[in-house]
This record gives sequence, structure tokens and C-alpha cells, in this order.
Amino acid sequence: TWASGAMRWSGSPTDMATQRPGFPARLAPTVSASTPASSALRGRQPAVPPKPPVPSTPSMASDAVRARMVQKLAAQGISDARVLRAMGAVERHRFVDSALVNQAYEDTSLPIGLGQTISKPSVVARMIELLLAAPALTGKPQDRLGRVLEIGTGCGYQAAVLNHVATEVYSIERLRGLHERARTNLRHFRLATVHLMFGDGMVGYAKGAPYAGIIAAAGGEAVPEAWIEQLAVGGRIVAPTHSAKGGQALVVIDKTARGLERLILEAVHFVPLKSGVA
Ligand code: SAH
Repeated sequence: TWASGAMRWSGSPTDMATQRPGFPARLAPTVSASTPASSALRGRQPAVPPKPPVPSTPSMASDAVRARMVQKLAAQGISDARVLRAMGAVERHRFVDSALVNQAYEDTSLPIGLGQTISKPSVVARMIELLLAAPALTGKPQDRLGRVLEIGTGCGYQAAVLNHVATEVYSIERLRGLHERARTNLRHFRLATVHLMFGDGMVGYAKGAPYAGIIAAAGGEAVPEAWIEQLAVGGRIVAPTHSAKGGQALVVIDKTARGLERLILEAVHFVPLKSGVA
């Protein structure tokens, strides 16, 4: 595990507040009220001298574990600098429940409520790396992708990562509770180029089309026709789909001037793509 030394903590969020004023402290507004810097004590002489500052500042603690996560992604074969930069920039711990914050930078999927999960970092990185290898970006390793459509906003984490590599992100979620949750999570980052929509992503989002890239975070029987229609020429779809063997596999579809090119890659495990809203 990545926790060590001054950064180690365990137990309930309450324990966390008293034992470890590290980076998750900012997620729990009550924490600051017990520190000498709290507004209640401001202007008064504290009875006991303030504690020496903790060795690492809150954001430094999360920066260090995130940097380690990025090193591991690189060691696992993610080589696109744009992806590694984006994964290093987005604070994943802000998207998970406070009780799960100590696992935020482990390579694992985590529950986000309503039976859904945030994908593991290595899968997010892998899929975005594939997306950036779209025909239109061939030979342009520095460039951003144009408009991207994400199906399955979930907690909003992947949308925030996509925002670093694309000019515009449209993300659609069919569960109202998660759509609202993503809105709350993303408010902190003030991302003017991320657009969250509540609706059924099986029909895509025609108003934002054509898309340079379409990425799905939920797996269906096949890639819906609407996504292919809404994809720009030179664009790419990356989606988990049911495989012939019964599980799921990542599918890449490129729209080229000559037509569609389809590639089936490794096995994956995503929540199901469902139609309608709830
Ligand atoms: N990218 C997300 C992962 C969320 S899990 C993240 O970073 O957290 C996949 C999400 O897809 C779930 O929230 C699920 O409700 C949603 N989903 C499934 N079918 C959908 C559909 N037809 N339209 C929109 N969202 C869908």
C-alpha cells in the first residue's frame, strides 16, 4: 500500500480527522474546526502553543501518492505523455467516498453508489491512450483531441481526466443520483469545457456531434449505431462490448474515409450499459 510514515491512517473518517490532517482533511469540513487555525480561535492567544506543522502539506501528500500511481501506470506500459500528465493532474481522491479515500490511488475500481463503480486507473489510462491514437491524431503526439463524448459519467472522474486531453467533453449519465453527484464533485474544479448531461447515452448526444472521440464506461451487446453516426471522420470509439466468448472485451472502431475499421482488444469488466434513465 502507498500509505507510509506520516501519511498512514486507518479507521473511520472520524479517526482520520483526529489522527491524520493529511489531504483527505479537505474533504471533511469539520476537521479544520479542531485545529489551532480555526476561526473560533483566531485573534485569541491559544492556551497551548500550536502544534508544529505536519511534515507534508495536504496537497503535497496527495501529489506524492498520485505521482507514484503515474509511475506504476508508466511501468505497466502507458506511454502517451498526455495521458500520464492528465492522470497525474486529476485528484482521484476527490471523487470517492471519504471512507475509501485511502484506496483512491490504488489500481482498483471502487463503489460510487447505486451499484456502480469508478473504473481502475489503469483501465481509464489505457482507454484514453487508445482514444488519443485516433486516426486524426496520428503523428501528432502533442495535440489535444477535439470534442469527446463519454457515456457513463459516474462520479465524474474520467470526465475530469478527459478534460486534460480534449478540447471539450460531453458526458452523459442515465442515473440521476450519479449525474448530480458528478456535478457536485466537478464543481470544485470549475471546468468550463466539461458538459454533464442526464439522459440515455445509448442514443449518444446529437447536439455535440460530430465527436473526435467516443468513450464508454459501461458495456453493452454491441456499439450502438448512434455512436457511429455521431463520430467524426478520423475519430475513434473505445468501448467495452460483449465478446463472443461470453465476457466483455474492449472494442476500438475507427471512422476513416474508407469506412469503419474495427479492432477487438483485451478482456475487461465493466458495469452493464442499460437503456432508459432512472
Ligand atoms: N466514468 C465513470 C465510470 C462510471 S461506471 C467514472 O469515472 O466514475 C459507468 C456508468 O455508466 C454508471 O454510472 C452507469 O449508470 C452508466 N450508464 C450505463 N448505461 C448508460 C447509458 N445508457 N447512458 C448513460 N450512462 C449509462
